Amino acid sequence: MKKHFSFILILLFTLPLWNGCKLNNKEIPNLSDVKAQIEGYHKNGKYDADLKKIFTKANLEFAKITSKENSLVIFDIDETTLSNYQFGLDYDFGYNEEIWDEWVNEKRATAIKEVKDFYNMLVSKGFRIAFITGRNTSHYNDTKENLISEGYTIFDTLITRKMDALKTTALIYKSEERQKLVDKGYEIVATVGDQYSDILGANHGIQIKIPNYQYIVK
Ligand SMILES: [Mg+2]
Repeated sequence: MKKHFSFILILLFTLPLWNGCKLNNKEIPNLSDVKAQIEGYHKNGKYDADLKKIFTKANLEFAKITSKENSLVIFDIDETTLSNYQFGLDYDFGYNEEIWDEWVNEKRATAIKEVKDFYNMLVSKGFRIAFITGRNTSHYNDTKENLISEGYTIFDTLITRKMDALKTTALIYKSEERQKLVDKGYEIVATVGDQYSDILGANHGIQIKIPNYQYIVK
């Protein structure tokens, strides 16, 4: 999460620099306007409608697939299985490590309904579930409890990011963790995430990308 919010702020403030003289002041997005657009997207039902569309398509694809003993679907956590949108609202889409730790410790993230319904369908059809999250290992217990309290009670493994994995990109970290699962004998049939770094790289299976306009994790 730290990198997430930092990234959007850096992006917003440096966009004009990257584009040099191509932009005039009228073309620079105003941070307040962008925040209002994000709030509008969530309030006006467009976010829910987008999710519905994505999972209608995913359900149709999975209707054609029979699970095997080792069929695994990998979910990201933040803004995928659990929403931290309230955290964004509480802190005006700002971030620092202390308030994020507090939020995780309080286990206030809530299940995203459409994702939870999809998860339920997969579990009922015998698919195995793994969570791979960018949250670090110190958040393992709180994250596990938050997942369970929000109804994600059945899963094979929850993988949090160890200190050495913090030195690399999310894309590499998640790809490496998926490879370890394949080496253990799993067949990854799908990856679900709000970031392209959740679903790109080797062993991704069917890619299910859900929206997130708050931050980007590479
Ligand atoms: Mg995420």
